[in-house]
Amino acid sequence: MEKNIQNNDLMNKIISLCKRRGFIFPGSDIYGGLANSWDYGPLGIELKNNIKREWWRRFVHNRPDVLGVDTALIMNPKVWEAVGHVQHFTDPLVECRSCHLRFRWDHVKGDKCPSCGGELTAPRQFNMLFKTFIGPVEDQSALAYLRPETAQGMFVNFKNILETSRKRLPFGIAQVGKAFRNEITPGNFIFRTREFEQMEIEYFIEEKDWETYFNHWLEEMKRWLKDLGVAGDKVHYHEIPEGDRAHYSKRTVDIEYNFPFGESELYGLAYRGNFDLKNHMEKSGQDLEYTDPETGEKFLPHVIEPTWGVDRTVLVAMLEAYQEEQAPTAEEGETDLRVMMRFPKWLAPVKVAILPLSKKENLSDKAREIYADLIKDLVCEYDETQSIGKRYRRQDEIGTPYCVTVDFESLEDNAVTVRDRDTMKQERTKIGELKRYLKDKLG
Ligand code: ATP
Repeated sequence: MEKNIQNNDLMNKIISLCKRRGFIFPGSDIYGGLANSWDYGPLGIELKNNIKREWWRRFVHNRPDVLGVDTALIMNPKVWEAVGHVQHFTDPLVECRSCHLRFRWDHVKGDKCPSCGGELTAPRQFNMLFKTFIGPVEDQSALAYLRPETAQGMFVNFKNILETSRKRLPFGIAQVGKAFRNEITPGNFIFRTREFEQMEIEYFIEEKDWETYFNHWLEEMKRWLKDLGVAGDKVHYHEIPEGDRAHYSKRTVDIEYNFPFGESELYGLAYRGNFDLKNHMEKSGQDLEYTDPETGEKFLPHVIEPTWGVDRTVLVAMLEAYQEEQAPTAEEGETDLRVMMRFPKWLAPVKVAILPLSKKENLSDKAREIYADLIKDLVCEYDETQSIGKRYRRQDEIGTPYCVTVDFESLEDNAVTVRDRDTMKQERTKIGELKRYLKDKLG
């Protein structure tokens, strides 16, 4: 069960590293922040984009049966009425009668206020849709909602995509984008925020095949976690029992991760039956049925929905990568602790750092030349400030797999030293072969 505590050691180390090195900053920082909002900095956006890009490559580009979309954040409010969000997209809220703090009832252990121990009110249902108004008049007719999930963008485009792509079942529609929920108790850094990103697929199938494709997507989600570098024993596949599942779902699995603040949902996989298409067909009056090209039979496809939270993926990637070890050598004024983000190479925000040993002589010129060539193909950083030891530390802390050091010998032998983040081994490589060498290593 997720607990709302910020003073956890590892979480604090990650939050502090994120700010110190430019991964993630508190939102609206110069105005004292905005509770539980976060901004991705230069390294954070690289990390996040690597996740989204790999997801898209793997599940859209590499699959003939999945197509991508990017749909509007503000949809016709009828969409949210049709699938029940206006009435039922709620969490149970309780308020403390003494300190008036509010909590999500299912996150409170016991029946007293987690903050002051005071008495709590009876739970009431709180709707999490973010409201807004379209146009200049703020009345009921202009009321709209920011989407709380990307999924409905795919369902309302089912017909458009079917007609334009002429796909046959089974096929999926994928989307990566923002979602908004007015969460009662956001917290635990980027784990629970009111604005976040999702990567979702609606996979349309014939009803009889639902178990086959449910298992297929479960395996795909497991493979994804493995490639993210997540240790198997930290992940738990929680089968949602019948009474807790949505009425239309025959099977739902929450993929939970052992976060420092407790075991909590990372991703979800649900069999949604034909609930969404059925409701949209009824409420929009449009024919959303699929015609089997062989038998001519008309029916509403069923759906398997795998969902990944982007920000929770970033958090897990950071937690899994974080490592501390005794540094073999410590420079003056430094601790002997070496902090390292052991990201899988494909995830690392910066792939290569180019470091001239000294600013003197022609080392900078030579190093800049190498940098200018490498950045055409790889995300690189050039750094000539501070001592070489401090610069290695910085690169270790941001998880850069390779550091290229340009030294005085380089001017003579046209070779550089490449240092490997994980083994700390250094190899001498000819400058002419450097790009090929690095690309091979980075895979
Ligand atoms: P929870 O039980 O944690 O509130 P949920 O079951 O409501 O999550 P879903 O509706 O299944 O979540 O959303 C799909 C995915 O979106 C989640 O698995 C998670 O990765 C992500 N997600 C949901 N809510 C948030 C949030 N407030 N902040 C960040 N990510 C979120």
